[in-house]
Amino acid sequence: MSFKKDMTGKNDSGLADKLSTLFSEAFDGENGSITPPIVQSSLFTFDSYEAFEDRMAGRTTNAIYTRVQNPTVAAFESTMSRAEGAEAAVAFASGMGGVAATMLALVKPGDKIVCVKHVYPDAYRLFERILRPFGVDTSYHSPDEFENNPELLKGVAVAYLESPNSLMFETMNLATVASHAKRHGVTTVIDNSWATPVFQRPLEHGIDVSLHSASKYISGHSDTVAGVVVSSNEIIHRIRDLTLPLLGAKLAPFEAFLLTRGLRTLVPRMQRHEQSANTLIERLLTLPAIERVNTVTVDPASNISGRSGLFSVQFAPSIDIRTFCNALTLFKLGVSWGGFESLALPARVALAQAEAENSMQRFGVPENLVRFSVGLEGVDDLWDDLNNAITKAMQ
Ligand SMILES: *Cc1c(COP(=O)(O)O)cnc(C)c1O
Repeated sequence: MSFKKDMTGKNDSGLADKLSTLFSEAFDGENGSITPPIVQSSLFTFDSYEAFEDRMAGRTTNAIYTRVQNPTVAAFESTMSRAEGAEAAVAFASGMGGVAATMLALVKPGDKIVCVKHVYPDAYRLFERILRPFGVDTSYHSPDEFENNPELLKGVAVAYLESPNSLMFETMNLATVASHAKRHGVTTVIDNSWATPVFQRPLEHGIDVSLHSASKYISGHSDTVAGVVVSSNEIIHRIRDLTLPLLGAKLAPFEAFLLTRGLRTLVPRMQRHEQSANTLIERLLTLPAIERVNTVTVDPASNISGRSGLFSVQFAPSIDIRTFCNALTLFKLGVSWGGFESLALPARVALAQAEAENSMQRFGVPENLVRFSVGLEGVDDLWDDLNNAITKAMQ
């Protein structure tokens, strides 16, 4: 199933409608309730010795203990796995909980990871600070190399992808990369947080594992930190058996409830984020103060059907980034993204937080770059805010 639309964001096809219905059916209601119950219980009891023994021996599947399994969490997981066309899903206390549990389930000492350049900085730190000392080597490559150099994947255990990638929003053709990977027996993992299942369903293009920071668009309200991983039964089983219970980064029932709440409005929110981003980018590109907008290009050949509300802007040297940021009022300054409120993250501030090994320094992110997350406020108000701040920041 593919979902193509033009850049104006008006041409919705069936997938968005299907997902809307799926998300509104996130669980089987009891007593007419239209939201899932929050099952705030750490453990689940058994009626008999035999029932207890059957469950421990794996002959039945009901919940035992919330570190591994919980009905509210399961409602979120099953909706996400259906949304991405996967067999199964497992949720985590954070996006990084999901990234770490996935990678630790897939690699062993001596293995090699190939990773996309400009990857999310904490994924980079996981590879460099935790996995490298344990004997797992990671190298970093452009989306172009992934597509055009099939030999890149020779002798590799896992390809770790983001498309689009962080800050620079470069994309790759997932079907091409997945077919190179299959030829070399490489497991492919993609961070799909930016696109969400509304705009990209990586498993349909042959990618093995799709994971999300659910703290962003999936929650949609900037009020929870969470993660989710979708894949085959086999890979999700390996994670559930190994790194979910033993690293313990489980999702809490209340957070899972917030996520099922967020999912119900995911489709119309994504449409609105994108429409507003389209309008702002169109207007920004008319200004001489803007050198370049880094954003997803949506064309019929690509596997991504929307740019979402995220992009970054490279300002001309005539713009003082500090003055620009301090002049913003509707756009708030902060990390993360995907909620109601619009946010700006200047690259230089992100660099100030980074250690020397940080991937932004290593791979060169322009210093006059600001990433924007376009929220759900009125687009003309957002434009006035940007335009005023740019005028004030002209040197
Ligand atoms: C935020 C983010 C993460 C990490 O997710 P947390 O929920 O903050 O742990 C991973 N990947 C991307 C692209 C992100 O934006």
